Amino acid sequence: MFKILDNWLENRRIKSMGFTVEQWESAVADWSVMERFQGIERDALRDMSFRFIARKGIAPGAEFEFTNAMCLKLATMACVPILHLGLDWYDHCQTIILYEGDFIADHPYQSEDGVVHAGGRGLSGEAWQRGPLILSWESILATGAHARHGKASNVVIHEFAHKLDMLRDGANGAPPIHPDMKPGEWHDVFTDTFLRLENDWQHHKHLPLDEYALTNPAEFFAVCSETFFEAPKMMKREMPQIYRLLSQFYRQDPS
Ligand SMILES: [Zn+2]
Repeated sequence: MFKILDNWLENRRIKSMGFTVEQWESAVADWSVMERFQGIERDALRDMSFRFIARKGIAPGAEFEFTNAMCLKLATMACVPILHLGLDWYDHCQTIILYEGDFIADHPYQSEDGVVHAGGRGLSGEAWQRGPLILSWESILATGAHARHGKASNVVIHEFAHKLDMLRDGANGAPPIHPDMKPGEWHDVFTDTFLRLENDWQHHKHLPLDEYALTNPAEFFAVCSETFFEAPKMMKREMPQIYRLLSQFYRQDPS
């Protein structure tokens, strides 16, 4: 009963926001990942993005005057990972604060219950266990398969991956996987790959993803998630086991 009412209220809210298909298409047109979503999947992604905006509070940081197009793009990037999981996977994240550029955090760099992502002197994105998710628009623009030191980058997917990870036991690289997946296999594959890449990095060998991934298991999962969606073919070739597990977790096969 209440679900029906909730749905009705949400549909009314979406209608009153007044977004059109054309506005949405134009907002996401320059994001290459969108080419993979066609037909009913594209319609579902658009619908979820509108619902995301209706449900979440998107607030400006430092009086940044962001546009509807920016909101639509941010929402769409956030919804891609959960397109086949469901929007309720983000129920614990109600507020997104959007800054124009990097922001300076006025708290310790890393805390027990939060994961902080450093971007130069300021931060480009940040996700807290209990609290808002903070993003910089300039970092959102710097998105793509080779955008960060030649490696895949997507700060929205990165920070929302932290939020998914936090659904179980805090941010530790182990999100709540599905009943048909094996927790032991997840742990072994992610640990083995992390250690192998750390060894490669110490021996100045090429890394298939941004070295920030090697900060800790939580950052490894977040950077792997960015790479999975932004450079899936490369990831499937260079990290096939991680690709397979992320494919099972996100229920998508982007390559
Ligand atoms: Zn991070």
